[in-house]
Formats: sequence, structure tokens, C-alpha cells
Amino acid sequence: MSTALFIVDVQNDFTERGALGVAGGDEVAERISRYLDAHADDYEIVVASRDWHDGDNDNGGHFAAEPDFVDTWPVHCVGGTYGAEYDEVFDTSRVTHHLKKGQGKPAYSLFEGVADDGRTATELLAEHGILDIDVVGLATDYCVRASALDAIAAGRHVRIFTDLIAGVHPESSDAALAEIAHAGAELRSSSDI
Ligand SMILES: [Zn+2]
Repeated sequence: MSTALFIVDVQNDFTERGALGVAGGDEVAERISRYLDAHADDYEIVVASRDWHDGDNDNGGHFAAEPDFVDTWPVHCVGGTYGAEYDEVFDTSRVTHHLKKGQGKPAYSLFEGVADDGRTATELLAEHGILDIDVVGLATDYCVRASALDAIAAGRHVRIFTDLIAGVHPESSDAALAEIAHAGAELRSSSDI
């Protein structure tokens, strides 16, 4: 068993009731919870990331009063607030490692995250001999994309479960999936597993 599950940014602010909610976010959170019920034992480690920004600055230009929703965003996922907590319908009981990213700067990839004990995803993968990574979460065109591309760049075999992701914009989500597939990831439905 050398497979990791990466669950990217399934947080209140990225689902329907949040500051930057994506359509279908809650449904994805529910489906991920059901998938974990059935499949958590298939994984050596289950790593979940959270965007975790500072509340007293613009986090390196990541927050803007008039955001373009490409490079700048409304205030979201301020550490310690409700919006930064895991989505209410995401059952985190089977998550083995929790990473936080984006403190004071933009951070789209789970690989930029750090656990409370200081460990990074790169260290966890080495420590647990992980060769394969399945990626799910929010949002397809931003943090899922960045996390998947980094996982491929780290030399791992990557699968994206297309029924366990949701994106900000339909066009850039389609483009992101094409890019991730071109880079070498498999696009699958979790129902095939
Ligand atoms: Zn952010």
C-alpha cells in the first residue's frame, strides 16, 4: 500500500455558503466523505490541505477589494475563522495529516502546505514511500490543478477523480483537466475504483 489521497481545500469558504463558493462544492464534500467511508483503508496516508490566510494583510496581493477572480480574490479562508474550517459536510475523521498553506502569501498547491509539526507533503511522501497519489477537492482550476501538477512533477503516478472535484470557472476547469492529463495524470471516476 503506497498510495496517498490528497484532499485539497474542502473548506466552508469554497463551498456554497462561503466567501468564494464554487458551484457543487457541498456535493463534492459529501461525495468525498462517502468515498472515504468506503476507501480510506486503501490509502497509506490521507492528506487534507486548508487555505489559511492572515486576517490583517492582503496576503501578498492575494486579496483585493475588486478582485479579478484569476489572480486576486475576495477575502477568504482567514485562519481561525469559520470560512477556513473544513466544510461542514466533509467528514475528516479518516484524514491522517492536515496541512495549512497561504499564511501571508498566495499558495495554490497542497505542496506549499505545512503540518502543525512542520512537515511538508514532500516529506510525508518520502517518509511513507508513496508512489501513487489520488487527488480530489476544490477548486479544479486552481488548487487541484496546482497540487496535481506538483504531484506529477514529484515523479508520482497521479489520478484525479473527476466526480470529486468542482471548479471556479467551467472553461478554465476543462483547460486545467486537459493540462493535468497531458502532464501524465489519469482522469477517472471514483465509482470505477
Ligand atoms: Zn487563497
